[in-house]
Amino acid sequence: MKSDMVPFRMAGNLYFVGCKKASSHLLDTGEGLILIDTGYEENAETIVNSMSELGFDIRDVKYIIHSHGHYDHTFATAKLVKLSGAKTFLNHRDIHYLEGRFTPDFDIKDGDIIKLGKTEILCLETPGHTEGTISFFFNIEENGKIYRAGMFGGAGTNQLKKDFLKSQGLNTLPRGQFFKSIERLRNEHVDIFIGNHSWQNDTQGNYEKSLVSEINPFIDETRWGAFLNKLEKDLWTVIENESKTHFINYAHRGASEYLPENTFLAFYTGVYMGANGIETDVHVTKDGVAVLFHDDTLDRVTGESGIVSEKTYEELAEMFVSKNEFQDKIVRFEDFLDKFSFRDLTFAIELKQKGTAKQVADILRKYDIKDKVVITSFDFESVCDMREYAPEFNAGFLAKEVTDELLLEMKKRNISEICPKATLVNEENVRKWHYEGFNVRAWGVSNEDLMKTVYEAGADGMTVNFPDKLAEYIKINRDMEEEK
Ligand SMILES: [Zn+2]
Repeated sequence: MKSDMVPFRMAGNLYFVGCKKASSHLLDTGEGLILIDTGYEENAETIVNSMSELGFDIRDVKYIIHSHGHYDHTFATAKLVKLSGAKTFLNHRDIHYLEGRFTPDFDIKDGDIIKLGKTEILCLETPGHTEGTISFFFNIEENGKIYRAGMFGGAGTNQLKKDFLKSQGLNTLPRGQFFKSIERLRNEHVDIFIGNHSWQNDTQGNYEKSLVSEINPFIDETRWGAFLNKLEKDLWTVIENESKTHFINYAHRGASEYLPENTFLAFYTGVYMGANGIETDVHVTKDGVAVLFHDDTLDRVTGESGIVSEKTYEELAEMFVSKNEFQDKIVRFEDFLDKFSFRDLTFAIELKQKGTAKQVADILRKYDIKDKVVITSFDFESVCDMREYAPEFNAGFLAKEVTDELLLEMKKRNISEICPKATLVNEENVRKWHYEGFNVRAWGVSNEDLMKTVYEAGADGMTVNFPDKLAEYIKINRDMEEEK
């Protein structure tokens, strides 16, 4: 089988041997060949054919280096190794993508230089597209001049959409890494921009130009910066669109403006009013039953005296939560999950009591709810407990103020949702938090003006006691968008 692209010399000792859907490049170092990325499984054959058309023998490939672990750049490698005996390189964070097809001989780390013959390839860690994406830089000599070639190892922004990230078991933090990687790559001077997909640098178009042009169309120092600018813009478009299409209207303790908070009455009404999320609070009773209750003390909503965690569930089951002319029972966490976990809703579960993270996680693990739950707390330690014990659940921190130090600590622990007090939310702050990769969900939305401010600032969600008003506001906004 032949490739759907003609193999050709791009510049100096650099050759294109890939196909339209996945680029592969070959460097002739004088002491053996280096292959950069392979491709889909079937590309093993097309690469061998493309190489031989150019007069190269697969058996002369000494190194196969990979920009990242995705199948469209690595799955042909195992076959090519069999044919060549080449040594393989990949950052260790991406090994899981290989699904056991081969084991890389070398880990590529930040700042490594891969040397063979006259070629030295500088490797920079530029995560985001994958955890272990590596970008490559090397010199190429053409007509007595030295040019710098560069490849952004993982430039796709589709893989940073929420739904895709979720499908990979990832949170939104890789977006922050991607922005940082772009920032870092801007510091590199690149004359010859190499793509790992042919559309990135219009490989085909430039090849055709090269057939009729005196000057090499691949040499253009403006392309690198322009490409990085485009990617940055693309990711902002993804984020800004998603803040609208994926916005979560959390009924805060249910529709608690109207009905007894954290009861079935309030939860069902919240959903009926158009909420696509429910926020609730977990306390644990003296006899170890997880219940949905906000305050530490009983008096405000039940009129009874005492502390929730010092009562037995049996005692709580006798009580009523009141609001306006309505009353309902205190809800066990598991009863809530029985009734709601299967619904198409997002759940924000707030830990109200230190030391309860494990118990809450164990209960959640009984339900198919992993992809639609965020566990939060005002207590940083509780959120950290949760991350450590049950890393499969997304976690958020409820912040009364947001500092750079806090964001750094959150990133270290892979806590991906920042939940600022609503009065801290404005367009500038939301953009900053998004730039760091966080999902932004506001709390303390005490009135409709604040509700509108949070929505318009581009946040990803908010908790409101009046989900009906938010649902209506979102609908009006969407209708207006459609008319545009
Ligand atoms: Zn990829």
